[in-house]
This record gives sequence, structure tokens and C-alpha cells, in this order.
Amino acid sequence: MAVVLFGASVATAVVTEAGAVTPTTPLKFKLERGTVSPKQAVPGSVKSQRIIFRFRASRATPVAIRVIKLGSGRTVRRFAPRKIRPGRWHRVNFNGLDRKGRLVGTGKYQVRVGPVGGPLQKLSRLRLHGHRFPVVGPHGSRGAVGMFGAGRNGGRTHEGLDITADCGRPLVAVRSGRILEAASDPALKGNYVVMKGRSERRTYLYAHLKRPSNVREGQRVRAGHRLGSVGQTGNAAGTPCHLHFEVRSRGRLLNPEPLVSSWVW
Ligand SMILES: [Zn+2]
Repeated sequence: MAVVLFGASVATAVVTEAGAVTPTTPLKFKLERGTVSPKQAVPGSVKSQRIIFRFRASRATPVAIRVIKLGSGRTVRRFAPRKIRPGRWHRVNFNGLDRKGRLVGTGKYQVRVGPVGGPLQKLSRLRLHGHRFPVVGPHGSRGAVGMFGAGRNGGRTHEGLDITADCGRPLVAVRSGRILEAASDPALKGNYVVMKGRSERRTYLYAHLKRPSNVREGQRVRAGHRLGSVGQTGNAAGTPCHLHFEVRSRGRLLNPEPLVSSWVW
């Protein structure tokens, strides 16, 4: 058995019973085109990242696809090689999970593709984030009155951040996780949802939803799962439509503002 490398191409050889070496055609593998779409995502999202590519080669061959962390060079995910044909588009879905189904960490990654046993070639970069923004589409702020810690009547303070958006705009899970509560509180929160993020100690409260949420307590959700719509229920009647968003870490309130501003990407 002899494996000879010609640059990026791999040539294999067959040893006959008589001991003569008969080279097979060189594979001449060349990655032609391809990409990852979308390039940025949260691991465990409703929509996977699609890896698409096309290659040239002298014949069908088993192709290896790996997602590699930039910097460390560590492979976080490899796809089982399949014998596939050159000159066609091929597609695999990457959901941001490793081989054991755990969330892959945040950071920059590179997808490499190549023949099994041969050098892998760079296809595209991708980026994974820990969270996504809770409102889909255009959104704004209520100014000082909507900030974390702002005064409220009865000596209360504002325990979340108000994010304005048109009534009816979709609200989505900022990360994959589990629903802790989905209920209604006519006096304050209106229709609301509380979820816990997966592999972290944080919980998220979404309040003033237009209608009661379709999710139920105990349900697992992926990042981007629809939790409801922006509304003005509870004590938000008469205010501009907005999401009241609270973040707790191990039960302690956090200021959501610096967090959510880094979740716009
Ligand atoms: Zn609020």
C-alpha cells in the first residue's frame, strides 16, 4: 500500500498479488466553491447553519468535513465521511452541537473539507454567539424610563429593560433552554414567559406579550424559538408596545442592557 501526495491531490496505488504496484488515477481533489449560511448563529438554533460545497476530482470519493476552532485548531465537529461525486453541490447541516450533542462554545471557527486521508482545504469561516437578540426586526428604547433601575411608583425600581418594537413583532428564545413559566399576570407583567438558558445559570423573563404564549412549562426550546409577540398587556397598557426583559443569574438580577446590546450581530 502506497499513498503518494502530489500537493493537494492524493494518489493511491494498488499492490497486485505478484507484488507489482499499479497506480490508480490521481484523485486531484480541488475544492471549487462553497460557503456556510448563515455565517453567524447561536448553537442549538431553530435553523441550522448550512455548509454547502462543490469539488473537482477524477472520481467519487469519501469526503471529510470538519469544523475547527480558530486559534487552537481543535476540531469541534466532524461529519462522517460519505463517498460523494465531484461537480455537484453537497450540503450538510451544522447545528452548533458537538458529537455528543453539547453546545459548541462561542468564537470563530473554520470549516475545512477534503478527501479522507488527504489535506483538508479551507471552505469558510463561521462565528458562534452565546445568545441572540430577543426581538426580531427593528427595535428601540424607551429612554431613561425604560432603563434597568429606573424609579417606579410605590418605591419600586424597574427590574428589567424595556425594548420598544411594533406590536406583534416576534419574540424569540435568546438561547436554547427550557421554559420555567408561561402565565398571565394582569396587574404587572401581563402575558409572560420565563426561560432558563441551557448550560448556564441564567433565566430570562419576557413580559407584556400580546397574547398568552404557545410554549408550556417544562418545554425545551431552541435558540430562536418563537415565544410570543411584542405587546402591551399588564401594566404596560397605555405605553408604547414593548418587551420588558429581565435577566437573572443564580436568582440575582442583572442589568440586561449591556448584555442585549452585545447580542445584536
Ligand atoms: Zn419594563
